[in-house]
Amino acid sequence: MDKLFGGIEFGGTKTICAVGRENGDLVVHETIPTTSVEETLRAVCGFFARQSPVTALGVGSFGPLDINEQSLEYGSIRNSPKEGWTNVALNALLTTHFDIPIKFDLDVNCAALGELHFGAGKNVDSFVYITLGTGIGGSLIINRRLEHGIMNLEMGHMRIPYEFLDGFEGACKFHGACLEGIASGHAMEQHYGQKPEDIKSQDIWSAEANYIALALNNIIMTIGPEKIILGGGLIRHEELIEQIRSKLSFTINGYLQVPDLDDYVVKSTGDTNGVLGAIKLVASANRE
Ligand code: ZN
Repeated sequence: MDKLFGGIEFGGTKTICAVGRENGDLVVHETIPTTSVEETLRAVCGFFARQSPVTALGVGSFGPLDINEQSLEYGSIRNSPKEGWTNVALNALLTTHFDIPIKFDLDVNCAALGELHFGAGKNVDSFVYITLGTGIGGSLIINRRLEHGIMNLEMGHMRIPYEFLDGFEGACKFHGACLEGIASGHAMEQHYGQKPEDIKSQDIWSAEANYIALALNNIIMTIGPEKIILGGGLIRHEELIEQIRSKLSFTINGYLQVPDLDDYVVKSTGDTNGVLGAIKLVASANRE
């Protein structure tokens, strides 16, 4: 019987806990709201206390996160835009509850690993995974390996052209109107006073598709991935992916011979790819 591993995905609004195996077999998973650090960790520990013992724990978290294993701050969330989660030493906090190896990476990187092994990235060597949720993040897989750059890749904070006539200055705590500052779920809520799932305006969703298409255009022109996979809560909005493809086609304007956009810009295959990726991350490390 393959070993059991734990996976945790700390997201901006929800945290997913899971127990599973390296081959992608998910034994059990549970979603809890991400609230304060103490309350969320209490719920996480409660979940694992009810499960069979796990060999090691893989953790994906929103960032910025220290993922340098040589660093004393490994597994710490740094300047997070999320209220109450700045300078949180996740590794130290989890180590007090779990006496097993723990491995960390960004939530978006774990989701990309999940797509790579079990999802929409199974059959390609390189792709970019973008999560469109409370925040926006991007992950790059090249030759079936995660690329981290010298720190973390933070595609959500790229700059794209925009124009607001209503005086909105963007919602990113660090950059105002970067991509995340204008197009994330958090930014939409700040800008329009409604949660994205309640927004019905075609104009707003058309503008949203435009921002994402501009970002994808820049990514395609810079990296030329074999595929782009979109995940996160916003992509569940009906027609958004179709609008993104259509605007992207307009932006590229025939300059590059990209494949059929229906096969090239695709949705994530599921919400549990993040924890499956976290399990894969720690299971691979455990094998080495
Ligand atoms: Zn930003």
